[in-house]
Amino acid sequence: MIGYMSTRDFEQTEKTYSEVLLEGLAPDGGLYVPNAYPNISHNELRQLSRKPYVEVFAHINSKFIAGDIPLATQREMAAAAFSTDKFPDATDGNITPVTWLTPTIAIQQLSLGPTAAFKDMAMQPLGQHMQYVLSLRDEKLTMLGATSGDTGSAAEAAMKDLDRVSLIMLSPEKGMSPFQKAQMADLSGGNILNISVDGRFDDCQDMVKELKKIPEFADLGAVNSINWGRVAAQVAYYVHGYNEAVQDDVGKFVDFVVPTGNFGNILAGYIAREMGLPIRNLIVATNENNVIHQLIQTGVYAPTKTAFETSSPSMDITRASNFERLAYDIFGKDPQLLRNYMETLKRDGSVSFNQFGITNGILIDKGFKSGASTHSDRLHAIKWAASQGMLIDPHTADAVTVALKLSTTNSLEGVPLVCMSTAMPLKFEATMRESLGYTPKRPKRFQDFEARVEHKRNGFTLLKAGDLDGLSKQVRAFRA
Ligand SMILES: *Cc1c(COP(=O)(O)O)cnc(C)c1O
Repeated sequence: MIGYMSTRDFEQTEKTYSEVLLEGLAPDGGLYVPNAYPNISHNELRQLSRKPYVEVFAHINSKFIAGDIPLATQREMAAAAFSTDKFPDATDGNITPVTWLTPTIAIQQLSLGPTAAFKDMAMQPLGQHMQYVLSLRDEKLTMLGATSGDTGSAAEAAMKDLDRVSLIMLSPEKGMSPFQKAQMADLSGGNILNISVDGRFDDCQDMVKELKKIPEFADLGAVNSINWGRVAAQVAYYVHGYNEAVQDDVGKFVDFVVPTGNFGNILAGYIAREMGLPIRNLIVATNENNVIHQLIQTGVYAPTKTAFETSSPSMDITRASNFERLAYDIFGKDPQLLRNYMETLKRDGSVSFNQFGITNGILIDKGFKSGASTHSDRLHAIKWAASQGMLIDPHTADAVTVALKLSTTNSLEGVPLVCMSTAMPLKFEATMRESLGYTPKRPKRFQDFEARVEHKRNGFTLLKAGDLDGLSKQVRAFRA
């Protein structure tokens, strides 16, 4: 049976899915990983071909939960997480459709959910699973998180009105788009508390970290991208996208291009491939914050001190937390080697595989490729995709840029290239206008959205950056 342990645990103590779901980060600072990856056979792939996403999800996700939640309950929760109500822009229940831009380059949409970003794909089932596990234990959980944009609204949309969980979300006063602010304001109230910090995303994150060091608040849960439940929930859309891309030709190889920030999305692709999904290359696309691109090309992991602000802001990250899970595999699942690697990174500010007797080309040997793009690349890619009949957002444009660059080299010929689309264009309209010269029409549910939620503008509680006393008071009052 599947069990989970921390990447840094010498004892290799195993925990259940429910336990790691609520814990998030392991107490030793490591990330939870399964004791072994489950399998997907070609036969299963054939059976899942042309099935609705809910069914593909329930089947694939159950491999990570095993007997921890009854199968029938898992199916009910999948149906609730991916209902047509929540994905109104999906056609025929296909919530992660694959559309071809050229005979070899396709887009897989992951952003048709409630908040128009791919974070919904994992947050929606995560909310359901947390509610279930907490009900079973007759417990309640208050979670505290920081967001620079997409995570906040996706988490809030997933947790809204669930009676076992409540959520306190810190976001920066400046830096988020007016649309993203409006989304969070709209979700304020009830079990959701939004706190706007007079500072930047880093200030929000620091306040979360500092508050958790106070014993009174140590029991607050976390919503961040290292939660195993989120990674596991993302594997299913690779299976669905694969089947759509190859039609019934199961066994044929496909490449995926993934706009990458914290390495959560592409890690799910890696796991899908480890499980047996015929993926040939996993291609990382970054923006100007190209630490992971450099890591793949050179074997040297050298996070920069600060991130550049770019027009694909959800990827403005220098340290990719989820990379630790891949590194663990590279070090032969040896917690000591992994610890040495992470400690060297912390001590020296950079680390290479060579220092540990592993070739610096290891990630390329393992089937990773990568590329980076600039603002002008994104503008060009948005325009090019529009000329092929599809509107893509700036993050998806990072992927399309890399797809176009790599598809001109022989190494990718003959294998379909599926670019993951991680947000709807409406979240980043200024860049869309800059590229296209006009603002694309929004889906109906988002038309005049900011104006419709204007009256909820006071949905944010304001705090000064570093005001830990103020935050403590807010948390105490909210929990009471
Ligand atoms: C979060 C996010 C990403 C990055 O995904 P990771 O899993 O952190 O690599 C890319 N695009 C959008 C729109 C996002 O919200």
